[in-house]
Amino acid sequence: MSQLEGKIAIVTGGSRGIGRAIALELGQRGATVVVNYNQSADAAEAVIAEIKAAGGDGMTFQCDVSDADQVATMFKDVTKAYGQLDILVNNAGVTRDNVIMMLKPDDFDTVINTNLRSAWLCSKAASRTMMKKRSGRIINISSVVGIAGNGGQTNYAASKAGLLGLTKSLAKEIAPRNVTVNAVAPGFIGTDMTSDLSDDIKETAISHIPLGRMGAPEDVAKAVAFLASDDAAYITGQVLVVDGGMVM
Ligand code: NDP
Repeated sequence: MSQLEGKIAIVTGGSRGIGRAIALELGQRGATVVVNYNQSADAAEAVIAEIKAAGGDGMTFQCDVSDADQVATMFKDVTKAYGQLDILVNNAGVTRDNVIMMLKPDDFDTVINTNLRSAWLCSKAASRTMMKKRSGRIINISSVVGIAGNGGQTNYAASKAGLLGLTKSLAKEIAPRNVTVNAVAPGFIGTDMTSDLSDDIKETAISHIPLGRMGAPEDVAKAVAFLASDDAAYITGQVLVVDGGMVM
């Protein structure tokens, strides 16, 4: 299982939900994990404590990933602390759902900045180090909504579709330096993000999932760990859908 021994990973939004599961999975496979968070300091510390209790290592890093200066500082400090960076998982994300007539420009900007601008900023910072080292893995957490669309999520879908364009363009750009860039598109996953949905909405969503259940954060984390591993060395610019068959 320790196929990521000696690797340094940053997981944005690693304090809760899918990011938490990714951080734990990478830690379990031997990577040293930087758990980025914005507001949930205690939750982020708990993730690092769990990684350390299992014999791994890492640290937390507070940073609003939509802020260019904060992102620059995070990457500078992390590369100073560990001397390298091997894996970046752009996972941080938010929703501000509403029908377009009710959505405010701020709701659009917040979602685009947190979900898409952040990934561009972090990828730019990580690329510098990875291209120099001639190895690296960037994994963007998109969504099936970025592929299929979803009423009431014009802002969110635009951010997640944007991540797919970013993934493919950057994959082409930095493949010659042996850095791969892929996306994972989760379907309907049980986290804080989906916990407020009504039972009716949840039941309807599950009725469209051939495997007949919501996904768990761990289902997504295992796909990310695969793309981060040496086993995925010849895979770049791809979108791995983890949705129980919902969108196919
Ligand atoms: P959660 O709401 O459970 O967790 C969101 C995470 O993002 C938290 O750790 C939060 O940190 C972090 N975050 C939010 N804003 C920022 C910011 N500005 N800077 C740094 N970190 C930030 O969401 P999920 O785990 O469900 O979602 C994780 C990713 O997966 C998102 O990109 C989401 O769009 C995507 N996704 C989720 C699906 C689902 O069904 N749940 C389906 C498809 C995709 P903090 O609490 O510290 O602010």
